[in-house]
Amino acid sequence: MQEQYGAESNEIYFTSCGSESDNLAIKGIMRCNKDKGNHIITSKIEHPAVLNTCHSLENEGYKVTYLSVDEDGIISLDELENSIQNTTTLISIMFANNEIGTIEPIKQIGEIAKRHSILFHTDAVQAIGNIKINVNDYNIDLLSMSGHKLYAPKGVGALYVREGINFQKIQDGGHQENDKRAGTENIAGIVGLGRAIELINKNFDEYNNKLITLRNYYIEEVEKRIPDAKLNGHRFKRLAGNCNFSFPNIEGEELLLRLDEKGICASTGSACSTGSTSPSHVLLAIGLPSNLAQGTLRVTFGDENTKEDVDFLLQALEEIIVN
Ligand code: PLP
Repeated sequence: MQEQYGAESNEIYFTSCGSESDNLAIKGIMRCNKDKGNHIITSKIEHPAVLNTCHSLENEGYKVTYLSVDEDGIISLDELENSIQNTTTLISIMFANNEIGTIEPIKQIGEIAKRHSILFHTDAVQAIGNIKINVNDYNIDLLSMSGHKLYAPKGVGALYVREGINFQKIQDGGHQENDKRAGTENIAGIVGLGRAIELINKNFDEYNNKLITLRNYYIEEVEKRIPDAKLNGHRFKRLAGNCNFSFPNIEGEELLLRLDEKGICASTGSACSTGSTSPSHVLLAIGLPSNLAQGTLRVTFGDENTKEDVDFLLQALEEIIVN
């Protein structure tokens, strides 16, 4: 474990989920370093667990820069470097995006952070299990993860914090987790998380190669069968099982319902709130026009999926969209 991830057990703090790990990392670092500076750099396409944590810190007087992304969802390293101020305390950029699958240039971000002596946090909830991550190779100071993305039980997450970096706890109570995260630990969940990581690492390449093959096949076939479909996210620098397409002339919600009738479970690129559907902040950030953003379908393949499943999905999409 130490060898693969570069993390020691005393650098791991167990939490209830990825969202809590993001909160603990960002609030914990900023509140502990008030005298150093009050500026955070993040991106516009982070998960709400990071974005809303930053919004909440803005209400406390902290300053946040939200980096834009290009049409593939990748941040600009120049913009990152130009955004650094002498009050910048933390850079928080996700390892890979949950909607469009794009993998960020984490190594270069880590190098920039190190060069400027700024702490670097990454939300790796989607990346752990898909990408081999050694925190030392990437200069990562803090890393958030979540159990259920790795086939561990729901209700467990973890935060890696490099030894020697102090952070403030965000929850008062007992002295669990080295006095950094009060509350009785979810022991069954933690054991499940450990076992899930062991199992994934046993067949890491086989598992990921299988997902990449299914993903590439799906992407190629969608583009062949539905020529005006638009792939969202980077074609190659993307999570193994993630596929995200926009289809003109169909609403994502309708597509989802019709796929559901056929027993296919996917998600749209819309955020539903109070009965209205608006395009997701990620799709808007990559500059997708709203007619395309409304017709977005995200499919993620997992361990149990087969080529037959992909063929079934492709046929269903053709029936719904083309016919
Ligand atoms: N960050 C990312 C990138 C995610 O995809 C998710 C969940 O989907 C989270 C954070 C939140 O994790 P959790 O659901 O464990 O709170």
